[in-house]
Amino acid sequence: MSETNIQGLIAHFPIADQTVPISNPVNGKKIYDLPQLSEQQVIDAIDKARLAQPSWEKVSVTERAKVLRQTQKLMIADEAKLLDLLQLETGKSRAHAFEETVGAIAAAGYNSKVAVKALARQKTKSGIPVLTKTFVDHFPVGVVGVITPWNYPLALTMLDVLPALVAGNAVVQKADNQSALTVLFARHLAIEAGLPAEVWTVVVGDGEIVGNAVTDHVDYVAFTGSTATGRKVAQRAAARLIGCSLELGGKNPMIVLESANVKRAAEIAMAGAFGSAGQLCVSIERVYVPNRMKEEFLSEIAKRTNSLNVGKSNDFSMDIGSLTGYSQLQRVTGFIDDAVITGATVIAGGEALSETGPYFYSPTVLTNVNANARMYRQEVFGPVIAVEGYDDLDDAIAWANDSDFGLNASVVGDERDALKVAEKLNAGGVNINEGYRASFASNETPMGGTKSSGQGRRNGIGGILRYTEARAIGISRGAIKIPTRAKQYNQMAPLMRILVKLIK
Ligand code: NAD
Repeated sequence: MSETNIQGLIAHFPIADQTVPISNPVNGKKIYDLPQLSEQQVIDAIDKARLAQPSWEKVSVTERAKVLRQTQKLMIADEAKLLDLLQLETGKSRAHAFEETVGAIAAAGYNSKVAVKALARQKTKSGIPVLTKTFVDHFPVGVVGVITPWNYPLALTMLDVLPALVAGNAVVQKADNQSALTVLFARHLAIEAGLPAEVWTVVVGDGEIVGNAVTDHVDYVAFTGSTATGRKVAQRAAARLIGCSLELGGKNPMIVLESANVKRAAEIAMAGAFGSAGQLCVSIERVYVPNRMKEEFLSEIAKRTNSLNVGKSNDFSMDIGSLTGYSQLQRVTGFIDDAVITGATVIAGGEALSETGPYFYSPTVLTNVNANARMYRQEVFGPVIAVEGYDDLDDAIAWANDSDFGLNASVVGDERDALKVAEKLNAGGVNINEGYRASFASNETPMGGTKSSGQGRRNGIGGILRYTEARAIGISRGAIKIPTRAKQYNQMAPLMRILVKLIK
């Protein structure tokens, strides 16, 4: 993207006292300086969004859905630019940028398609048949705050911002500094598609200052990021009694069954672990395989992992790209070094690839990760997978569930056996014979986590309705009135007993 185009996008922000340099992860070179907004500038942005929201709410749902459909068309037309931007800001491979972009395009289409039905007046069963009728309307909460991380800026924006907009809300999105351009370009396309500019504002800056200002002034907050930050957001939202959804971290297990084909299982585990260099919330970080197939599995996954092309490229020649920056490199190196020092065996990878670029790290397979290694329980969020053996499937299920997290899980093997295991896993999603793509790709299927992986679900009609308030309407009708005096109750009691029996 040219300097002029970048300046055009960041002209969205008010002039700020401070800026931070944003670098391209694949070579560490500065791309541009990003303004850092103050608390007051964020509050001003929310106030403006609040002024703009009522007119957007008055636009019919059908017309709002059309804006999403048109946004989808423009994204399809500008796919190459979206891929370039995603790669520029996150350092991910073209293939992983493509996977993300397809998901984002699908989200625009899905929300456009289901919005009218999702937001239509719903007739409900009356509690006093004949005498009353009831229905529910859903109206927008007002201004929704959407807080997004740097790893999947396009997909997460489309998954969380578009449902809020189509429900008639204004959105103030706090983008991560590292991936603000992708978000701004997505917004630019929505505006080209007919969205009033004032109803989707992007703010950037210090996570705490800007994040707190958003949480303290919006009417609902949809947060995606780490569990530690999610807890802070939840506390502030609770203090204000506003709704929030929290899409947080994971320590996602895979169980390989006796019935699995070892080669296929190794391929699925490899693909499930290294998407966007493992910087993906639903990435597989631990695998449990039957002890009798462990050696073969390790050999197969090592062979596959060692054959991955890791490097920078704006075409589809590289399987894995870079980590997204210095702190990610420090994090991944720290976790893996600690695992090795405490006894883990490196089966593949295990080193930074500094000759490829400043933040590249080799896809890594470990085994014998000790229970006191930090990565045994904590999310690494990098390209590393730990393989352990089991003799008893019940043990593997117990180990899979023995985690503070419950975001994604995977089971590989005969489909019927795998489904039985899936039913025993405490996770917001389980993928059978796949790492994460099968459920992650479905916009109709709820996505979210149990335990410390979050609260609430995105996707589906519920993903739109979370941004609304339900207004229950009850109407007393007809000649027979609901009793108001004791005598009337007495007279009507026989009829009411019959009516209540009719409620099924
Ligand atoms: P993070 O929590 O550090 O930051 C996420 C966002 O919150 C950023 O925009 C950040 O600036 C902002 N923020 C920071 N402090 C804040 C505060 N006090 N109040 C409000 N906002 C604040 O997370 P990260 O490191 O950017 O992202 C990685 C984490 O996100 C991983 O744990 C990953 O698993 C998780 N994640 C989850 C999902 C999901 O859908 N469940 C998707 C992507 C990433």
